[in-house]
Amino acid sequence: MKAIQLPTPGGPDAMVLVETPTPTPVRGQALVRVEAAGVNFIDVYQRTGFYKMEPPVRLGLEGAGVVEAVGPEVDGVRVGDRVAWCSVAGSYATHVVAPVEKLVSVPGALDSRRAAAAMLQGLTAHYLVKSTFPLGAGDSCLVHAAAGGVGLLLCQLAKRAGARVFATVSTEEKAARAREAGADDVLSYDDFAAEVARRTKGRGVSVVYDSVGRSTFDQSLACLRPRGMLVSFGQSSGAIGAFDPLVLSAGGSLFFTRPTLGHYTSTRMELLARAHEIFELIAQGALRISIHATFPLGASAEAHRQLEGRKTTGKVLLDPTA
Ligand code: NDP
Repeated sequence: MKAIQLPTPGGPDAMVLVETPTPTPVRGQALVRVEAAGVNFIDVYQRTGFYKMEPPVRLGLEGAGVVEAVGPEVDGVRVGDRVAWCSVAGSYATHVVAPVEKLVSVPGALDSRRAAAAMLQGLTAHYLVKSTFPLGAGDSCLVHAAAGGVGLLLCQLAKRAGARVFATVSTEEKAARAREAGADDVLSYDDFAAEVARRTKGRGVSVVYDSVGRSTFDQSLACLRPRGMLVSFGQSSGAIGAFDPLVLSAGGSLFFTRPTLGHYTSTRMELLARAHEIFELIAQGALRISIHATFPLGASAEAHRQLEGRKTTGKVLLDPTA
């Protein structure tokens, strides 16, 4: 099998395509032939060493493919099943060995590329809108990086929940993509807090979903209504660092949370329920999966350059079969 490994953290070219023996699944595991692997910003944090990992790191957490073999005592997954996942290390590969409790079965109508694209970013958008701050009609939210992988899905789910959706993006093309996804007010990063204040007549929004971090933190807090929530779920511009909790009281008894997908898919039942709902919405045509580009495994560095360089909208995939 082939896989992307990271001998030491570094830039995009630190990733190396290696030939390695195909593993045999042991108890509770399945061997899956990967048909599509998702590229996510967390892979960049792992590659650069921002998230500390024990070397050699096997990159990639997400994908979809077909089960080729199962280990002993495996229930519920059979050879030939098409499955998808969002937290199996080493997914930038032609094959991956996965604990079966991390696999979800993919409906027949959904191809592997869209299934892979729906998992990590789709389940994230789902928990943010349904669980971290359950949005409803009458709420308003601000989604940063709204034309990104999580962003486009978050806008669609927030709109579907009945909220007024404010969005930030960096280019006109991305603004158009955010509007197509349901954003009502698309703003520039420069002065979004002032614009939110102006457009809400000083009330502010119920929640800010902030994946950008350092460069947006102060303005994000300033956008919130009293007792609103800042959901800091990423840091594509850098870490926000330490801050004084008194800024929360001064801003209006605000809430701050730093959630992560693992804690919102912590039981098998929760993982399946979120994935099922996302797959259903896609099947109904109520949630659009937008794939920006698909690269062969050997071009993983270019995929990372584009994602980090803010050149992508929607999902970036790797095709290990290419
Ligand atoms: P995106 O497709 O959203 O790509 C990142 C986007 O961030 C860029 O396209 C860009 O959009 C924006 N951005 C703003 N400032 C910068 C900067 N300085 N450098 C690079 N990009 C910048 O990626 P993902 O959808 O994969 O992930 C989005 C975020 O969500 C990441 O921070 C990720 O870690 C986080 N995340 C968190 C999860 C969790 O559970 N906590 C789970 C999944 C993702 P623009 O040009 O419009 O500003």
